[in-house]
Amino acid sequence: MDRYRIKPGSQVDLSRHDPDDRSAFDGDKAAGKAETAALNGRLEALQELLYAEGRHKVLVVLQAMDAGGKDGTIRSVFEGVNPQGVKVASFKRPTPPEQAHDYLWRVHGQTPGSGEIVIFNRSHYEDVLVVRVHELVPESRWRKRFAHIRAFESMLGDEGTRIVKFFLHVSKDEQRERLQERIDDPRKRWKANPADLEERKRWDDYQAAYEEALAETSTEQAPWYVIPANANWYRNLVISRILVDLLEGLSMRYPEPAEGIPDMRVV
Ligand code: AMP
Ligand code: MG
Repeated sequence: MDRYRIKPGSQVDLSRHDPDDRSAFDGDKAAGKAETAALNGRLEALQELLYAEGRHKVLVVLQAMDAGGKDGTIRSVFEGVNPQGVKVASFKRPTPPEQAHDYLWRVHGQTPGSGEIVIFNRSHYEDVLVVRVHELVPESRWRKRFAHIRAFESMLGDEGTRIVKFFLHVSKDEQRERLQERIDDPRKRWKANPADLEERKRWDDYQAAYEEALAETSTEQAPWYVIPANANWYRNLVISRILVDLLEGLSMRYPEPAEGIPDMRVV
């Protein structure tokens, strides 16, 4: 899965990342789904262990263009995990109290505690993406944020948080189809938002903002992955595999049992 990781210090040109790439898996969609289901079982077991051991904290950041598949990823990849140890934090347009503070204030409070996995559905990266594209603050201000974000994530890492960041990469045509489907499908229509069309008009500005954000903030401690996301099944497979690898790499163990636990057959 290393092929999708942005190496620290490298440039990013999203036009050279194919949203339809399938090169990390040999099989077809059905085989891919079966593989993801198997990975999901492992993820469930690893998350139980993470919770039981209570030693590590895991932060998963999801970013994408509108209709890029953030919600679907959360639903599919984390299906069946114990909600006790997993939390989703969604970041919308800042509320007045959030607006009154620095942009990392609302974010820090949502980071995982020991034994927890937290999934960020959007994140502090909006503050160098939508904020940049819409010129909500001057460039002299948002440009400094790359350094803040690197320092913030490095602090979290030093204090025991494993961070992994996914950019779900869809093509502009795929976005159009998905936005149309939202309008056509009564079960998806609630998600349709006239603002999405306005954002779509700024597609190139967003791609450029993403390219710079990914290049500036992909580090060893908190790497970005550009996930080919035109096919949901492939996206889910790749993300599941990266997460399972990350959790397996933690060499976790169940804690020692408490001293003096009785044998219930003889008490
Ligand atoms: P959704 O994820 O579709 O519910 O939309 C959330 C909206 O909130 C998106 O349009 C984001 O761009 C916007 N948003 C999130 N964070 C910020 C931020 N820091 N400043 C401005 N808008 C934001
Ligand atoms: Mg939206």
